[in-house]
This record gives sequence, structure tokens and C-alpha cells, in this order.
Amino acid sequence: MASQTGEIVQSSLAALLENDSFLPNLKGQTRKKAFTSLAAILSTPNHVHKSFLRISLENEEVVRIPAYRIQHNNTLGPYKGGIRFHENVNESEVTNLAALMTLKNALHEVPFGGGKGGVVINPREYSVKELHRICQKYVRSFSDIIGPDKDIPAPDMGTGDREMDWMTAEYKSIRPGQPYRGSFTGKSVVNGGSLGRREATGKGVYFTFRYLLHDFVKEEKSWLISTGNNYAKTAVALSDQPLRVAVQGFGNVGSIAALEAYHCKQVHNKVVAVSDRNVTLYNSEGLDIPALADYTYHNQGDLPKNVEELTKSGVKATILDREDVLYLDVEVLILAALEDQIRKDNVEQVKAKIIVEGANAPVTGDADKVLNNKGVIIIPDILANAGGVIVSYFEWLQGRETQFYSEEEVFALLSEKMQSTMSTILPQYFGDPYSLRQNCYIHAVMKLSNILYRQGKLY
Ligand code: NAD
Repeated sequence: MASQTGEIVQSSLAALLENDSFLPNLKGQTRKKAFTSLAAILSTPNHVHKSFLRISLENEEVVRIPAYRIQHNNTLGPYKGGIRFHENVNESEVTNLAALMTLKNALHEVPFGGGKGGVVINPREYSVKELHRICQKYVRSFSDIIGPDKDIPAPDMGTGDREMDWMTAEYKSIRPGQPYRGSFTGKSVVNGGSLGRREATGKGVYFTFRYLLHDFVKEEKSWLISTGNNYAKTAVALSDQPLRVAVQGFGNVGSIAALEAYHCKQVHNKVVAVSDRNVTLYNSEGLDIPALADYTYHNQGDLPKNVEELTKSGVKATILDREDVLYLDVEVLILAALEDQIRKDNVEQVKAKIIVEGANAPVTGDADKVLNNKGVIIIPDILANAGGVIVSYFEWLQGRETQFYSEEEVFALLSEKMQSTMSTILPQYFGDPYSLRQNCYIHAVMKLSNILYRQGKLY
């Protein structure tokens, strides 16, 4: 398990062990034994599947490409998690991500377990035909262990609806006459995908921020002030002032979160910076986010990276270095690019008072501690970026019912689900000394532990 994920699961279990009102029937040695069982179950995957995909390339060379499907835990339902195509994919990373999926689904009450897949390739180095073959071979290698009621993959870094459509077609041809629509989510809409899936994660990311600062703080202001809690002080102070927002990453998650911020009427905020793999764009008066979204749509996903391109986009901005987005004088920083962006070596340069994790694990464990000690509010990945898996769940349901929801219905259901999680977690967060991340983990571990106990698995 990821060192940070593993560490937090262990400390969540330690906190729950001391809490006599949690699983009160377990006492003394029996209690200790049950918690040891829990730690073992949550820190190891149920199954690690590895295969070498034999692919004939267009130049007639034949290669063997390592591929994984890791099934972490299925206590709550079929395994669920994306398939990543990236040259750095390895067993430990995929296992960590699978564990995070188990906890994320438990936190948001999505009836799935946690899984993850990966193929060790840089997809930019393969032709469309070769990528198609890789997808088909992946499904053939793992077809016995995936399926609508066993394990449901989805897109992740390096994959999208095209790959899910190819994989679904291969699954269908291997298993004729059997249900196949729910075997993969994140498919294209014409192929049974859900409306709103593409926007779901970015919308959810911004929703968690808006709900915390607008809905929750406004409603609970006097209680928050009375708690004397450090995070409560930060939230109340920020809820009364105009906010400057910076967004790292302008892809699927970052661009949608930035658009949500740009259009939001409830929070007085403006997006002053966005960044991508090449540059940071900054304008203290606020950036024209719709124009930038339009530009990236027509330019292979990249923001304008020089004066000429900026002029072409019609957007007023200063071009800064790619990393500068992390250190700007802003109140809110949305991290929607990669893992390990804020670390021990750069954490002191970060000025934001609220950090929202759109990417998985963009803040390392060391940096997380430093920021928490300063009263910085971190809305963690497990809470903020679950929009994708929540709408994947709706896609899976729609595939079973063959009834499709409108985009408005999807977004209304998404907000309802995320709001329900936020309203459970936030009062605990502001009322006790734990970070928001720790609170989310405690909640997820409680949910899983209760079920494992009821199922007689804690021996
Ligand atoms: P994406 O590929 O669409 O966009 C990634 C963005 O990050 C691009 O703008 C890219 O230029 C930028 N980027 C790449 N390297 C960078 C660097 N070194 N510095 C700054 N920017 C850099 O990916 P996405 O779907 O938006 O996902 C972003 C993150 O969110 C990933 O870590 C992904 O695992 C995570 N995530 C995505 C979803 C989803 O539904 N898409 C769900 C949960 C988590």
C-alpha cells in the first residue's frame, strides 16, 4: 500500500481501537485480534494478476509488454478502478491505487470494491493500431477475472473512452450472449457511456471546495467560531473575502474545475493562474477560462506556450514557468496534474490556504503534515476526486437497466452523493484534531470494518 495510504490506514485503525463505542462487542484480546485482522486485510490486495502481452508491432517486431490487474478488496461489491497506460506503471503503484479505490468507494458509499490496472507503455510511442491490439490482448489476458459483477475497469492516465470501447467490444466477442455493457465504464456515450462522465471528476473537485466554503461555512459559522479549531479559523476567514484560485493541470480534471470556478456565482472567486506540462499562465485580474478551454480543445490539449500562441488565443496573461503555479500568492490551489507535486523540499514556498487534490496523491505525506500544522485546509483526493467513480457507478447502473439518464439528472445525482459525504465528514473534521484526510480514512475504514465484522471475517 502507498506509504501515505498505508500509514493513514494504520493510524485510523489505532484511533478506532481506542474508541470503545466502535464495535463495542469486541473487547480485550478479541478486540486486538480483530484489529490485527483488519490491518492485514486492508494493507494487502486480494489478488495480484500480472501478464506479459505479446504484441506484434507495425514494423513486424514482436514485443512482450508487462500488464497488471490488481484486485485489492471486494467487501463492498465488484472490484472497480481504472487502467493506466504509462511507462512508470509498476506493481507497487498499481497496488497503492487499488487500495485508494477501496477506501474511496467506502467513503462515498459506492457499492464497489477497489481495483486498478496498468500497462507499462508510453501510449504516445504506439500507433492507433498497436494500441488497439494492446487493449484487445489486455482483455484476453484478464477476461476470466473481469466482468460486470466481478471487476469493472475504467479509464485512467493514458486511456479514455476509445480504449474502453475497444475493450468492451473484445469482452463481448470473447463472451457471446453474456451481459457486457457493465464490464467497463468510461465508454463513449454512443457505446453505452454515461452523459456527464467526462466532466464528473472536475465538477466534483470544485463542488467539494464550494460546498465547504459556501454552504457549510455560511450555515455553521457561529459553531465554527466557537470550536477554536485552527482549520475552522481558516475557513471562516476565507469565506468572507474574494478568493484567488490557481489550478495546476489543464486536462480533463483541471480545465473543468477551472470552468466551474469561473462560472460559480456563490463563491466570490477568480481564476488567476492555470498551468500544464509546458507553462503557467497568470493574470491578477482573472483569466478567460472558456477561451483557454477552447484553445486547448483545438491544440492537442496544450495551453498557449509562447507570445504568438497567446495572441492567437486572444487571452491576456503573463507566461511563467511550469512550476510557478504552486508558489503564487493565492488563497486556493487546485492540484489536477500529477502525484508528488508538493513535497518536503518545496512545501515552505506554498502560500495557498486551501489545497484541493484533483489528482491522486499530489501532496506527499511529509508535506501534508507541514501544511496541516499551519492550518492549511487540504481537501484530499479520496474526497475531492471521486466524481469519476460515482458517475461510473451511474453508468454501470444504466448499463444494467438500459435506461439512460439526462446530463442534468447525472449532475444532480453526483452533487447529491458528494454532498451527503461532505455533510457527514465536515462536522467531525472541524470538531476534532484530525486532518480532513484522516477523517475521511477513519470513516472509510469504519464502514469496511463494520461489514467485515458482520460477515464474520475478523478472526
Ligand atoms: P489529463 O491527461 O487530461 O490532464 C493532465 C494535465 O496535467 C494536462 O494539462 C497536462 O499538460 C498537465 N501536466 C502534465 N505534466 C505536468 C507537470 N509536470 N506539471 C504541470 N502540469 C502537468 O489528466 P486528467 O484526467 O485531467 O487527470 C489529472 C489527474 O487527476 C491525474 O493524476 C489522474 O490520475 C487524476 N484523476 C483523474 C480522474 C478522471 O476522471 N479523469 C479521476 C480521478 C483522478
